[in-house]
Amino acid sequence: MSPSRNPAFDVIVIGSGIGGLVTATQLAAKGAQVLVLERYLIPGGSAGYFQRQGYQFDVGASMIFGFGDKGTTNLLTRALEAVNLKQETITDPVQIHYHLPHNLDLKVERIYNKFLQNLIAYFPHEATGIRRFYDECWKVFNYLNSIDLLSLEEPRYLLRTFLRHPLACLGLAKYLPQNVGDVARRYIKDPELLKFIDIECYCWSVVTAEKTPMINAGMVFSDRHYGGVNYPKGGVGQIAQKLVVGLEKYGGIIEYKSRVIKIITEQGKAVGVKLANGKIYYGKRIVSNATRWDTFEKLLPVDQMPSNEKKWQQTYQKSPSFLSLHIGVEAGVLPDSTECHHIILEDWQQMTTPAGTLFLSIPTLLDPELAPQGYHIIHVFTPDWIDNWQGISATEYEAKKEAAAAQIIHRLEKIFPGLDAGLDYLEIGTPRTHQRFLGRVDGTYGPIPRRKLWGLLNMPFNRTAIPGLYCVGDSTFPGQGLNAVAFSGFACAHRIAVDLGFK
Ligand SMILES: Cc1cc2nc3c(=O)[nH]c(=O)nc-3n(C[C@H](O)[C@H](O)[C@H](O)COP(=O)(O)OP(=O)(O)OC[C@H]3O[C@@H](n4cnc5c(N)ncnc54)[C@H](O)[C@@H]3O)c2cc1C
Repeated sequence: MSPSRNPAFDVIVIGSGIGGLVTATQLAAKGAQVLVLERYLIPGGSAGYFQRQGYQFDVGASMIFGFGDKGTTNLLTRALEAVNLKQETITDPVQIHYHLPHNLDLKVERIYNKFLQNLIAYFPHEATGIRRFYDECWKVFNYLNSIDLLSLEEPRYLLRTFLRHPLACLGLAKYLPQNVGDVARRYIKDPELLKFIDIECYCWSVVTAEKTPMINAGMVFSDRHYGGVNYPKGGVGQIAQKLVVGLEKYGGIIEYKSRVIKIITEQGKAVGVKLANGKIYYGKRIVSNATRWDTFEKLLPVDQMPSNEKKWQQTYQKSPSFLSLHIGVEAGVLPDSTECHHIILEDWQQMTTPAGTLFLSIPTLLDPELAPQGYHIIHVFTPDWIDNWQGISATEYEAKKEAAAAQIIHRLEKIFPGLDAGLDYLEIGTPRTHQRFLGRVDGTYGPIPRRKLWGLLNMPFNRTAIPGLYCVGDSTFPGQGLNAVAFSGFACAHRIAVDLGFK
């Protein structure tokens, strides 16, 4: 009998990002035999970490949603609970401290009414519009938070959910094709305030409100006041590491330094994978946690790309990657009552241009143990395209990195005077670094609409046109962010469990 007809694994997951690990743990907890293959040395992908000179830096994500203790949208809490684990977290009292043009200096407090007061103080003439807009986001959130978030590709679940929560389902169906910009303009007229709504979206969707789906905004703009933003004690890397503990506890296997170079198909069906070291594994179902571009252009023959994937690529493009500075700094540089997360922009015209908007995280304000005593971590990053960093010599590359870092530090000096003098450690990552270490084509943050779309309607779910092959992670519904890819993981595992007959 050919090994493909007698696969050793129920499910093989390519990649141990949070999307891949949630899929794997959910299925292992249901009794499936799961193998996760990760090309890197540790799990987590964009939610990984690295250590240098006593500092523990988060690779990317550090503003973490999904760790609430109530409702249904706390998907990181729930993913860990499914494998009997819990992550200690530290509550962040302010989601973002914005430093915006025209002295718009505003904190998004965890307490909703405080945030509204802060915003209305800048735009008193828009008080009613502000309340109506954010209240409408709450409607979306309340609908989402009343149902179990599972696979929208599973008709019996859809029917069951509809019968139990008809209003929530109808409400969500209404918002699914809507974007934030249209809803905001219904209530708000002030152009500067509309710019603020743009950056409220841009800082996680990397597109303006016009192209940001209302479903995602409903989650982010409300959950920050409901479940809140909670930092995992020990660093973001803890989430993936714990999920791996849970996976192994339930009999799953993870192999590192295992780069999949090919998804093996037989008669058009995905049946296994081939690794760079020549090993071959067969599974009843194959899940790719690589981006859709990597999956359909590198792991499968690009000239046989299914037509729906070609269409998706015409609808969505790769977002830029990031230029990242991982900084260790003397603690005295940070004024008292500095917040953990900041967004800095001096000119609205530059919001979406490379190096226009700066995103800052200082996780050691919440968990001081991530840095040597007397020091803090500042992770500052800004969108940038890989093309800006290609085709130059190694010397030019280093010089360009240094120049870009110097410019960013110069801008940060306005908020943190003495930063340059207080630097203890600096490591600069470019889009090339993101591509190399995260295994993401062009180092992209994920898909963004090429043009204004009907909300989330065009975002693909987990099944693909290739029988036996599923995708999970930020290039599937509902998109980027740890809680979002956890949603994708729950949905993917649910669909596969039904397909394989696991309860
Ligand atoms: C700088 C930055 C800041 C961010 N900030 C936040 C934030 O504050 N809050 C938030 O919620 N989100 C944030 N995000 C987004 C969030 O990190 C991602 O959306 C999410 O982690 C993506 O998870 P994923 O499961 O889709 O895939 P990934 O994290 O990309 O993981 C995929 C995994 O698959 C592995 N892999 C890929 N190809 C192969 C192969 N062929 N063989 C074997 N293994 C393979 C990779 O090595 C990787 O480990 C940020 C992202 C970045 C880059």
